[in-house]
Amino acid sequence: MASSTEKAGKCEKCQTGDVMCRFNDFDRGDLRVMAWEHKCTDCGIRVTQAWRSDQPNAGDTPEGLPTCPWCGRTGKTA
Ligand SMILES: [Zn+2]
Ligand SMILES: [Zn+2]
Repeated sequence: MASSTEKAGKCEKCQTGDVMCRFNDFDRGDLRVMAWEHKCTDCGIRVTQAWRSDQPNAGDTPEGLPTCPWCGRTGKTA
């Protein structure tokens, strides 16, 4: 599984912590899972959004490089 993490700015809730934007790309051949997570290093507030290839109604297929639904960065894992 490939993943990448970047800072995505200050937390809106606690105003002091850094929000870390994490992207996970899991490919098992018959199953592809891409998951985004924003988590504050201080207060721990967390939001996640995942896309699974076995759930065709989960939304648009993120072909190529998907973008974070919150900060808009692309999910390159290299
Ligand atoms: Zn916070
Ligand atoms: Zn993000």
